[in-house]
Amino acid sequence: MNKNIAVIRGDGIGPEIVEQALKVLDKIADLYGHTFNYTDVDMGGCAIDKWGNPLPEEMLKRCVESDSVLLGAVGGEKWNSVPGDMRPEKGLLRLRAGMGVYSNNRPAKIWKQLADASPLKKEIVEKGIDFIIVRELIGGIYFGEHTTTEESGEKKAVDVLAYTESEIERIGRIGFETARKRSKKLCSVEKSNVLDSSRLWKSVMHRLAAEYPDVTLSDMLVDNCAMQIVKNPAQFDVIVTENMFGDILSDEASMITGSIGMIPSSSLGATSCGLYEPIHGSAPDIAGMDIANPIGTVLSAAMMLRYSFDMPEEADCIENAVSAVLDEGFRTADIMSDGCKKVGCSEMGDLIISKLERK
Ligand code: NAD
Repeated sequence: MNKNIAVIRGDGIGPEIVEQALKVLDKIADLYGHTFNYTDVDMGGCAIDKWGNPLPEEMLKRCVESDSVLLGAVGGEKWNSVPGDMRPEKGLLRLRAGMGVYSNNRPAKIWKQLADASPLKKEIVEKGIDFIIVRELIGGIYFGEHTTTEESGEKKAVDVLAYTESEIERIGRIGFETARKRSKKLCSVEKSNVLDSSRLWKSVMHRLAAEYPDVTLSDMLVDNCAMQIVKNPAQFDVIVTENMFGDILSDEASMITGSIGMIPSSSLGATSCGLYEPIHGSAPDIAGMDIANPIGTVLSAAMMLRYSFDMPEEADCIENAVSAVLDEGFRTADIMSDGCKKVGCSEMGDLIISKLERK
């Protein structure tokens, strides 16, 4: 297959970690007979320095016209004092809106080799943690009307939580489709005992379930879900939920897995063109030192192959290679533990490549 990938290296450790992911993609292309064409996109602080704009129109166009976008990270101290609209993070928000990605998908997976890094008890971790949260990204309370009024000397603030059936349906479909590509178990999380928006959410999910008879749908209240994620995370495979619940639950889920440097993410919309990035920021404190963990970015590239390019074997190949490198005790500084071998960012990239094998 021939695919065009827009590549945003960004700021801080962005260029170092993206380089490793591109090396891995090149080897995958060799092994499986694909061609990946890369188009460079300036976004974030580096784009402000070069173009005076965190995401110039031409750069957004390159992303929208690509088959998918791979992003390192943006931002840093240097640009903290620029006006709000010109900040590096504004580029990211404009990119998400411009690409129309309404679904953020974040896996919570504990690598058995890093089980000690989890704050959960060993017996819970040993049951296995490997689920994905599909979060609605551009609706709900964060995008509802926000007002603050004052009456009789007292302030009142109101944030509106609104969802339409079609907004729920489009994210629900991503949940069902994602479950189809995994263990065919989908848990819909809401607060239908209190909120009308959640009751609508639940009814739309059940209507959709009829179209996905191969997927088992369950419902869970969000407060219970927050408890279950720490009590028995092994029960989950795919969770689908609204924007604010997903924001909170996905941070909780990333904590239980140990290191921020290991976690990839994808954001998808109506087309297969997705945005793939690690969940961490640009880590300016370690930028340029060749010590960053590139695994979150490498695994983001694997998600791109699985979810946008329909290349599950190639994605498995990358994930197995990461696992093999961890099995042999190689660790970047952030995941280092006693008895392991410390390696830098580019060496970790080379090690992963050395383990890529077509089955
Ligand atoms: P951060 O995620 O960049 O760093 C937090 C801590 O984790 C730091 O100690 C850092 O060294 C470490 N860390 C992060 N990624 C790592 C990796 N791959 N390997 C090893 N260690 C890693 O968060 P922050 O310090 O709050 O933010 C720094 C900058 O990144 C800010 O400008 C922020 O706005 C930006 N940011 C960007 C994104 C994005 O591009 N999507 C997301 C979050 C923050």
